[in-house]
Amino acid sequence: MLRGPQNLAQRILEVQERMARAAARAGRNAQSVTLLAVSKAQPAEVVRAAADCGLRDFGESYLQEALAKLDALRDRALQWHFVGRIQANKTRDIAEAFAWVHAVDRLRIAERLAAQRPHYAAPLNVCLQVNIGGEASKGGVAHAELPGLAAAVARLPRLALRGLMCIPPEETEVARQRAWFRELHGLYTALNSAGLGLDTLSMGMSGDFEAAIEEGATIVRVGTALFGPRPA
Ligand SMILES: *Cc1c(COP(=O)(O)O)cnc(C)c1O
Repeated sequence: MLRGPQNLAQRILEVQERMARAAARAGRNAQSVTLLAVSKAQPAEVVRAAADCGLRDFGESYLQEALAKLDALRDRALQWHFVGRIQANKTRDIAEAFAWVHAVDRLRIAERLAAQRPHYAAPLNVCLQVNIGGEASKGGVAHAELPGLAAAVARLPRLALRGLMCIPPEETEVARQRAWFRELHGLYTALNSAGLGLDTLSMGMSGDFEAAIEEGATIVRVGTALFGPRPA
């Protein structure tokens, strides 16, 4: 695959056009969906090139790699999202360096992030990851535990509970993709009926972001479709 900057600009445009078409099919404003470019395993120069194309939100999963990249791009006003699983011994660095975390699934992790979020920083934006397919291989809170976790996280200082995130089972059929996303949307609606005031559904990746947008995604997390296959 070609890897030049022109090619990157082209792929960004293609993804943005696909997002806009999916939003239009759902009768939604294209501006209501944020493209989060998942840049894990991509070098800082590639992120810089993507920023030059107008992207502002970037997602990372591996802390050491991410911290070096954040440092290399300090001169840019970028919004960094930690989308990976969060280990307890990594919470301080995450709380200090990121604007968003997408995969909180335990109260203990949220409590550490709240305690370690610096007072000079804006509240850390948090999504709770739901294990929507009940898969043992994936993180995420079980459906039954979600309301209790959400209520507890919403009470923590220094955090802004924004919404829900999921990584559904891989599906090739669009109807099945949409069913998982619809389920997450249902859980989100229920929490909002309970007064939580959520505004974010982080769902959809390279293989299913259009289905996610049709079911209400407000953030799609896209890596491969923008940057090509990740280097080993
Ligand atoms: C890697 C990753 C993505 C991006 O996946 P692609 O299939 O490359 O678009 C999205 N979300 C999370 C949590 C990831 O770890």
